[in-house]
Amino acid sequence: MMTDQLIIGVDIGGTKCAVCVADTSGNILHRYGEPTGGDDRSPEEILASLSAGVDRLLIENGINRSRLLGAGVSCGGPLDTTTGIIYAPPNLPRWQAVPVKRLIEEHLKVPVRVENDANATALAEWKFGAGIGARNLVFMTMGTGIGGGIIADGRLIHGANDLAGELGHQTVLINGPLCGCGKRGCLEALASGPSIARLAKDSTRQGRNRVVLPMAGGRVEDITARHIVESAKQSDPFALAILEEAGTYMGLGIANIIQILNPEVVILGTIAVHAGDLILEPIRRAVGEYAWKRSADVCRIVPAALEDRAQDLAGIALWLQE
Ligand SMILES: [Zn+2]
Repeated sequence: MMTDQLIIGVDIGGTKCAVCVADTSGNILHRYGEPTGGDDRSPEEILASLSAGVDRLLIENGINRSRLLGAGVSCGGPLDTTTGIIYAPPNLPRWQAVPVKRLIEEHLKVPVRVENDANATALAEWKFGAGIGARNLVFMTMGTGIGGGIIADGRLIHGANDLAGELGHQTVLINGPLCGCGKRGCLEALASGPSIARLAKDSTRQGRNRVVLPMAGGRVEDITARHIVESAKQSDPFALAILEEAGTYMGLGIANIIQILNPEVVILGTIAVHAGDLILEPIRRAVGEYAWKRSADVCRIVPAALEDRAQDLAGIALWLQE
């Protein structure tokens, strides 16, 4: 690939959006961001504003459009990667069937690829982060939800209608807690940030928790997963037990994935990055218990490496996957 080629990355999030210009090695050269703006602006207005932001970056930095390989858009799903239409992601409820690919192509006059954020981040970790060199990689977010992206035999897996890799919605507990998707006992309902917070709130109401509560200003309803991670770092046995429980479910889910895909690396975002071994150890223990040894032995389970660069690089990586 020619080294003077550039790629536009577009990240559309629930609270903020950003565009960037990067080279094919993943160096972010220029960047512009703005708040998504809740219900104030239509999707068309937001996309027009972001496209204008790209135009400004190109003009201010004297970049000729002929150097642009294309633009990659990372956005919450569900979406159709062929048509580039986004269907009302949970974090963008106003985005009902928005033809993001067509609208940005009209503005920027470059080819546009659209991918859900978990898949795009999987590609970014593969090209620039913790998965460099792997042929079989699984990326899982561990934040508000548990999203996933699968690269198998060197290719991102989409499935029949772009729903492959919804790893957080595998059932790991029959008749378990209700998940945001409507099913019960999904991994997301047992190991995501809100699920960890829910475990902590339930136990606190039963009087089993003393360290975490002051961090939340004494209000049980304000306890978050971050408070649990901070308490665990201070060796609070209550917080450690909660991370142990969530980590065990996470490890069970990952063991299932390992049995199906036999990956070389599973990369975990957000909570795994903040908590490190406090949650990775229980995860690895559960994987050792529930996955075949020969499959588990070849699989590294590691925290994501890109962190706050991931959102910018997600759109860039869409143009570097072949
Ligand atoms: Zn679910």
